[in-house]
Amino acid sequence: MIIILFGAPGVGKGTQAVILAEKLGVAHLSTGDAFRAAIKNQTPVGQMAQEYVASGKLVPDEIVAKIVEEAMTNETFANGCILDGFPRTRTQAEALEQMLTAKGADITTVVNIAVDDDTIIARLLQRGRSDDREDIIRHRLNVYNDETAPLLDFYGQKSLLTTIDGIGDVEDVNARILSAIKA
Ligand code: ADP
Repeated sequence: MIIILFGAPGVGKGTQAVILAEKLGVAHLSTGDAFRAAIKNQTPVGQMAQEYVASGKLVPDEIVAKIVEEAMTNETFANGCILDGFPRTRTQAEALEQMLTAKGADITTVVNIAVDDDTIIARLLQRGRSDDREDIIRHRLNVYNDETAPLLDFYGQKSLLTTIDGIGDVEDVNARILSAIKA
C-alpha cells in the first residue's frame, strides 16, 4: 500500500500521515522531516538543502532523490508507506514511478487534502516553524501552485486521485482520508 498525501503546505499532511501510518501499520516518509533532520545533523544532503528549506524554495530534484532513496527501504515498498510532501514536481513523480516499477509496487491512491489559503496561512503562522513567516509561507504557496498543483492532473488522469475537505477536527479529516483510501 503506497499512499500519497497531497496538498499545499499547511493542509495537515504531516499530522494526518502520522495517524494513518499508526492506524494502517505502515511506514511514514516525510521529505520535509527528513530534510530538517539532515540539516540538524549537518549531513552532506542537509548542507545542500538548507538554503532552500530556509527560504521556502523547493530543494532540487536530484537532492530530493537522494533523500528518498535513503529512506525508502525494501520493507517500505513491500509493507507500505505514507508519502508526505513527495512527490512535489513532475520529475519527482516520474522518479517515484520508476522506483515503484523496479520494486513491483504501485501507488494505491493519492489523497488531495483541500484547504483554502487564508486558513493555511493562519494555521502556519500559529505553528511558527522557522520557515513559517508570512512572506515565506506566501512563497511556498506560490511554489505549490506553480510546481506541485499540476500533479493533480497527472494523477487525476491515472484515476488515482481523490480530493477530501481538510477543514475540521483532525479525527474528522482522518476519517475522510480513511474512507478515500478504502473506496
Ligand atoms: P510544508 O509542506 O508545510 O511546506 P514540509 O515539511 O513538507 O512542509 O517541507 C518543508 C520544506 O522542505 C519545503 O518548503 C522545501 O524546501 C523542502 N521539501 C520538502 N519536501 C520536498 C520535495 N519533495 N521537493 C523539494 N523540496 C522539498
